[in-house]
Amino acid sequence: MRKIQMVDLKSQYEKIKPVIDAKIQEVLDTNTYINGPEVASFQKNLEAYLGAKHVIPCANGTDALQIAMMGLGLQPGDEVITADFTFAATVEVIALLQLTPVLVDVELGNMNISIEAIKKAITPKTKAIVPVHLFGRAANMEAIMRVAEEHNLYVIEDNAQAIGANCKFSDGSKRKAGVIGHVGATSFFPSKNLGCYGDGGAIFTNDDELAHTLRGIVNHGMYVRYHHDVVGVNSRLDSIQAAVLNAKLPHLDTYNAARQNAARKYSAAFENHPKIIAPSICDICDCHVFHQYTLRIIDGDRDGLMQHLLDNGIPCAIYYPIPLHAQKAYADERYQEADFPNTNRLVKEVISLPMHSELDDEQIAFITSKVIEFLKP
Ligand SMILES: *Cc1c(COP(=O)(O)O)cnc(C)c1O
Repeated sequence: MRKIQMVDLKSQYEKIKPVIDAKIQEVLDTNTYINGPEVASFQKNLEAYLGAKHVIPCANGTDALQIAMMGLGLQPGDEVITADFTFAATVEVIALLQLTPVLVDVELGNMNISIEAIKKAITPKTKAIVPVHLFGRAANMEAIMRVAEEHNLYVIEDNAQAIGANCKFSDGSKRKAGVIGHVGATSFFPSKNLGCYGDGGAIFTNDDELAHTLRGIVNHGMYVRYHHDVVGVNSRLDSIQAAVLNAKLPHLDTYNAARQNAARKYSAAFENHPKIIAPSICDICDCHVFHQYTLRIIDGDRDGLMQHLLDNGIPCAIYYPIPLHAQKAYADERYQEADFPNTNRLVKEVISLPMHSELDDEQIAFITSKVIEFLKP
């Protein structure tokens, strides 16, 4: 059996090595390291893939979120509602801009921000909602957009984990996660579903004026060289990373389908197990692209299971072990434990198994057998 890895970037690279190597070599040969043709073409390619009017490439996913909030003109003291159960980058940029993060509970079923909790958290100071499409599953954007419209709020989608996932609407239409809110942000960190070989990110919007503002902010607030109209940052996607992304984007749907395929096999093995809640898979809507394959262990020894898997050479991880509201950096006296029953529960139950586009049947069978062996009912 091939060695099991949490993420297998090497096997994926080997399959497309000639294209990647040639594209990187071309950047070297043409010395177009910053804002070269690869960046411009990647922008166009991603716009076409997502059905987004504007893609603004930038240096990483955290910057993408920050720049999105700067572009919307959010001001210190404005309240921004986001999920308590996510990677810290989401809340970090809110705090960094001196906006007030308002963390709210998630739904147990999809682990995404709770619509009821959003409604409860809205105050006259609320300016924006930041749903995170956690682990690759699209949040309920239709409901979120409805709440946002009612209260005149911006929606900033954190799509770092769900590039390629679809959101389905009740009229039957489908749109890509990340292009439904006023602005979306993603990351091309190597282990993301579309990863480059370093840091990278992008912002998406269908709003022409906002796109113009964002293009200035990523480049020191310049719209005309050496004229700084707004306070900006230096956040560029470099050409070598854009070249890698141009080589990989045509394979994104195949990579996501391979993840879904692996997820289906995992979930089939765990079906009806009394101690395991496996993520549901909707075959029709493609709403989950399995950035992570995350189980909930019910009335079982989750930490013991983790050790058992590690002892058997199976990498696994707890995403995320501590709710954001319980992190020192984001403490707020307004938070009550009773407001976070689901996050408080998930941090004790979740475990993420190896998930990437290169998992084979033998590996999946071994992993599932070791999980089931430990969790004997
Ligand atoms: C990875 C990630 C980010 C940050 O992306 P970077 O490119 O690492 O800065 C933000 N939000 C979520 C949910 C992520 O998973």
